[in-house]
Order: sequence, then structure tokens, then C-alpha cells
Amino acid sequence: MPPPLVSSPDDLAPGSVDRPGAVQQRKYPQPCGFFNDRTRDCHCTSPIIQRYISKISGPLLERIDIHIDVPAVNYKEMRSTSVPESSASIRQRVIRARDTQLTRFSGLKERLYCNAQLAPRHIRAFCELSTDCERLLERAMAQQSLTARTHDRILKVARTVADLEAAPAIEPKHIAEAIQYRTLDRTFWA
Ligand SMILES: [Zn+2]
Repeated sequence: MPPPLVSSPDDLAPGSVDRPGAVQQRKYPQPCGFFNDRTRDCHCTSPIIQRYISKISGPLLERIDIHIDVPAVNYKEMRSTSVPESSASIRQRVIRARDTQLTRFSGLKERLYCNAQLAPRHIRAFCELSTDCERLLERAMAQQSLTARTHDRILKVARTVADLEAAPAIEPKHIAEAIQYRTLDRTFWA
């Protein structure tokens, strides 16, 4: 049986009553909520953070394509005058990437329409890697003790990053970006 996805009543201190409205005292200190916040101090120990994150089980995290930290935007960034890429132009890139994927899968018996649907056998066919890419991925897998399932997710996401750039082949920078999207494996599960 896979480990539980959420914490159990074992988290509660002995003698605390598990009924609605009861004030429950916890055995373990709770995180302050400012971990990784650039503007606030967090003095939580890593076991506290790890305990909190481990409420989501590793097998569940593996099934999520992208996890990423989104730090709070500070005032200067909010007032920045640099013009970000517009939603309209991002939309165009996404439409083009989706078209690329439809064309890529048009010869298959299965009706696939996006990279996220690729099964392991498809990944071998459609996510071909150069020696440089192989080396980069191999190193990340070893350093971060990533699983086979995570390996496949990285390849699918890398293929999509390349498609969004209209790049025909997956390049090391696409692999590197896809590895970046495994924040939670890297920080807490490796
Ligand atoms: Zn903290």
C-alpha cells in the first residue's frame, strides 16, 4: 500500500481530543510559513519543513509534472517598467507548440494530442537526446536520486519547453529547465 497522502491523527499530542471545536495541541512545531521568502526570516529547522512537506507523499509528487516555488513579488519588481511578454504572444507560442505536437503524433495509432500523454514507449521515440543531454540528465538523476517516473516527466516537460521555442531537438538547456521544475524532489526528497 502506498504511504498515506495526509498526516494522521498520530500528529496530535497524546490526550488531545479529536472532536470538532476541540483545541488540539500538536506534538510537533508547525512551520512559520515564511520558508524561502526573500523578505522574511524563517528560523524553522529542516526537520520541521521536511515534516510539513512530507504530508504530500513522494509517489504523489512524482505524478505531478511541474512543481515550482513562487516567491512573493516585491515592490520594486511590481513597479518595474520592463515590459513582459504579452499574454497574446504567449498564446501564439502555445498554439504553435500544440500544432507541432499534433503533427508529431499524427502517424500514431493512438489518438494523442500533447506531450503530457506520452507513454514510456513514445518517450523513447519522440524525446531523443544528444550525448550532452544524456550526460546532464544522468548527473541530475544520480545527484538528486530521481526515480524512473520522474525521469520520464523531465523528458516530456523538456520536449514541451523545446516545442514552445520551436526547437526541433531537445537541447541541454531544455533538460536543465525541466529539471528546475522538480523543486520538491530536489529540496526534500533527494
Ligand atoms: Zn519558518
